[in-house]
Amino acid sequence: SEERSLNFIEQIVTDDIANGVNDGRVLTRFPPEPNGYLHIGHAKSIALNFGLAQQFNGKTNLRFDDTNPVTEDTEYVDSIKADIRWLGYEWAQELYASDYFEQIYEFAVTLIKKGLAYVEDASAEQIAASKGTPTTPGTPTPARSRSVEENLDLFTRMRNGEFKDGEKTLRAKIDLASPNMHMRDPLMYRIKHTHHHRTGDKWCIYPMYDFAHGQSDSIEKITHSLCTLEFIPHRPLYDWFIKELEIFPSHQYEFSRLNLTYTVMSKRKLKQLVEEKYVSGWDDPRMPTISGLRRRGYTPASIRQFCERVGVQKREQMIDLGLLEFCVREELNKTANRVMAVLDPVKLVLTNYPEGQVEEMTAENNPEDAAAGSRTLHFSKTLYIEREDFMEEPPKKFFRLGPGLHVRLKNAYIIKGESVEKDADGNITTIYASYLPESKSGGDHSGMTVKGTIHWVSAEHAATAEVRLYDRLFKSENPSAEEGDFKDFINPESLQVIKEAYVEPGLLQAKAGDRFQFMRKGYFTVDPDSTPEKVVFNRTVTLKDAWAK
Ligand code: ATP
Ligand code: MG
Ligand code: MG
Repeated sequence: SEERSLNFIEQIVTDDIANGVNDGRVLTRFPPEPNGYLHIGHAKSIALNFGLAQQFNGKTNLRFDDTNPVTEDTEYVDSIKADIRWLGYEWAQELYASDYFEQIYEFAVTLIKKGLAYVEDASAEQIAASKGTPTTPGTPTPARSRSVEENLDLFTRMRNGEFKDGEKTLRAKIDLASPNMHMRDPLMYRIKHTHHHRTGDKWCIYPMYDFAHGQSDSIEKITHSLCTLEFIPHRPLYDWFIKELEIFPSHQYEFSRLNLTYTVMSKRKLKQLVEEKYVSGWDDPRMPTISGLRRRGYTPASIRQFCERVGVQKREQMIDLGLLEFCVREELNKTANRVMAVLDPVKLVLTNYPEGQVEEMTAENNPEDAAAGSRTLHFSKTLYIEREDFMEEPPKKFFRLGPGLHVRLKNAYIIKGESVEKDADGNITTIYASYLPESKSGGDHSGMTVKGTIHWVSAEHAATAEVRLYDRLFKSENPSAEEGDFKDFINPESLQVIKEAYVEPGLLQAKAGDRFQFMRKGYFTVDPDSTPEKVVFNRTVTLKDAWAK
């Protein structure tokens, strides 16, 4: 990888190690809430957390932040693990915040005993009112002056299920006049009589994010707890709880979240797209999810490369979707075998080619990789070429096929356009051309040079394939910032399905996930919907330049 200067987080870790903080130990964590599939934004956090540990001889825990029983599910746990591994990372320990419920409860009891937490009777609205406004201090509720004994008793009864949802909460007793609203007696626990995907019905009180995240970090002795910028105002609270509990001092650092153009990145919105069937599922190739990108043909290395190029900043930024595409194109250019696929086929008959003759042509698999070898293609009298590669009345600089125009068929012969046959509507059904027998690729004695080269497949040998072409899912560069519903900005033409494309027959052997360059057409991958009779391809990304334009 290229030399670059340290980002601000790497600098902090470097300084901590130099200063002997935590004896130079580095332990990060990736803390997904199992309430959806991972997306490319999570990949940035994964690359950062796991990358730091790799760089500084540390470790990374995978911790499921499963403190909200309402939205969580084991289906998500499994997909998250699979996606992290696919990205190329392995965690030191698989942990669950819910495993700390007992300990977090004990932490709460400790704070109650210190007179630093109280059981609140007020409703959500009354609590909000008690906090005042950013310009006026809050006012204590009657519950704020409860005795330690009363608070201990009420908190035990909360745990025992004596109260209904919303009837009581536990609040930290900090400062109702703090300039930081998060310090104005924030909630620590709420009552939810809801089944939890791991703890079942054992608990009916659940800690809030602010009283679970830092505590979990501390229990695991996380050294550097990285989160996104919106948690900056939570940091004083994170530090306050740790200080008052006198527990291991994990530290929180904030970086900017990844935003991508023409995409939405909140799990809530992605879930809506799935549930309301705007897409076929979490792994629809148009989704910015890791599973969607995988099905689209993205490689783990291209996603890691993207995260590296995006870098780590302290200010919000919007990244061009084109950068993600650039990263996968760069990699596939080096690694994907070239094949010929005709997506919009029209028949081409070579008038002077012997009927019934079949020749074997040698085709290089990848000009960027000599080790990729070559394959044999069958050539015959009747071929398919792209409809757009022929024009009846070509303009001046059209270097493809037309009446009287010469073009090379890739890995085969130079041909010359002659005539066409049309149906009743005037659509070309067959193109007739003659070939130059002396012009065979690899042994061309024709003395002719032609400017254009086009791809083809032999009609009797070709296999039929379905090809799915994808465009960006949204018409708006930033659908979340638009007025109204983000779904109003969905691109209605984000998926185009070609039912009958013709491809080299060798592609029938391709397996789901295999990647190819369809020459002049882009990079494609085999979709899991493929059957032994019919391969389905997804276009990962177009080519930047085609060789005959
Ligand atoms: P969402 O808004 O999509 O629900 P989240 O932050 O609630 O995201 P979590 O499952 O809690 O989702 O995220 C796990 C980790 O990934 C967190 O540390 C979070 O900061 C990080 N993360 C989530 N989205 C992004 C993003 N767009 N860019 C960078 N990091 C992100
Ligand atoms: Mg979260
Ligand atoms: Mg969320």
